Amino acid sequence: MRPLVVLGATGSIGRQTLDVARRLGLLVEGLAARRGSEELAEGAREFPESQVAASSPTIEERNRFVEEFGERARFGPEGVESLAARSGVTVVNGVVGAAGLVASVAALRAGNRLALANKESLVAGGPVVSRALAEGGGELIPVDSEHSALFQCLVGEDPAGVHRLILTASGGPFRGSRPGELDEVTVEEALTHPTWKMGPRITIDSATLLNKGFEVIEAHHLFGMSYDQIEVVIHPESVVHSLVEFADGSLKAHLGEPDMRVPIQYAITHPERAPGMMGPFSLAGRTLTFEEPDLEAFPALGLAYQAGRAGGSAPTVLNAADEMAVQAFLERRLSFPGILRVLERSLERIPPRPLEDVADVQEVDREARAVARELIGAC
Ligand code: MG
Repeated sequence: MRPLVVLGATGSIGRQTLDVARRLGLLVEGLAARRGSEELAEGAREFPESQVAASSPTIEERNRFVEEFGERARFGPEGVESLAARSGVTVVNGVVGAAGLVASVAALRAGNRLALANKESLVAGGPVVSRALAEGGGELIPVDSEHSALFQCLVGEDPAGVHRLILTASGGPFRGSRPGELDEVTVEEALTHPTWKMGPRITIDSATLLNKGFEVIEAHHLFGMSYDQIEVVIHPESVVHSLVEFADGSLKAHLGEPDMRVPIQYAITHPERAPGMMGPFSLAGRTLTFEEPDLEAFPALGLAYQAGRAGGSAPTVLNAADEMAVQAFLERRLSFPGILRVLERSLERIPPRPLEDVADVQEVDREARAVARELIGAC
C-alpha cells in the first residue's frame, strides 16, 4: 500500500486515520494540522519518516518545530500543499473548512490517491476538483460514510446500469417535526444529534438537513449522476449507510456499525480489504425503518438540490452563506428559521457563474460571506 499523508492529523478523521495506519503498519510520510501543537509533534515523533506541516502556527510553535524537527518541518498553507503534492502517496484530507480545497487539488494534480473527508472540496469546488482529477490522473475515493457506501456498492458495476443513488439520513434531532414547529428552536436543542458525535457546524447542518443536501451535491460530482437520480431517505438507525438501485431493479446496500474507521480504512486499501477492528455485526433483533424526508419542514434540503442544479458557483455560495449563518445561530444572533432565509437570499443576490480554478472559488466564497454577513443583520 502507498505511504500516507494525513492532513488535519489532529482532528477526528486524522486521529482515526493514524489508528488505521498503526494497525495496518503503514508508512506515514506527512502529517499536517493548523497549529503546531504538542499532539502534532507527538505524531511526528511516532512517525519519524514524516514531514510535518503547520498551516498557521504561533511564533513559539514555529521555533519549537524548527528546533526539534529541522528540515522535516514546513509552515503555512504552502507547507501543507507541498505534503499533498508528494509523489506516489495516499493523501487523507481531513481538513475542516475551505482550506481543504487547495490540498485536494494539489493531491489530484500530482496524480495521488485522495481519500476525501473534507466536504468543502466537492461542495464549494466540485468543478475544480473534477478538473484536477481528470487532468492529474489521480484517484478520488470518498471517506464520508454515505459516499463510501455508494462507492463500495458501485465497485465492478457499469455506470450505465445505475438507475439511482439513495443516500440515507438519520433525520437529525428534529425528525418528525411539522412545518412551522421549528421556529423557536434553541442552540442546545439543535446541538443534540441522536446518532453521530460531530463538530457544531455539521451538527446544526444535520438539524436543518442541509448536510444531507451537501452530500447530494458531493454524490453528483463523485459519481457523475444527475440530480434527478440522487435521492434521500430518512433512516434513523444509521445502519444502512446508503444504497444503489440498478436498471434491472436490483438494489445494493452497504450496512454496518457507524464507525468512521471503516470508510477511512477502505479508502486506503481499495480495491483490497484488510481486517478491521469491528466485532461481528448482528442483524437479529434490529428494526430498520425508512421514511420520506419532509421538504416542507426541512426546506434546506430542497434548496441544496436547487443550488446543485444551478451549478457553477451556486453551491459555493450556499456553503459559505451557511457557515456564516450557522455561526450566527450558535452565537444567538440569528434564529433557526433565519438560517434558511440567509441561504435563500444569498443565492438570489449572487447569480451562478462558472468556476475555473481555486482562485474563482475563493473569490465567490469571500463575496458570499460578505453578502451573508449583511443579511444576518436583517434576518
Ligand atoms: Mg455523512
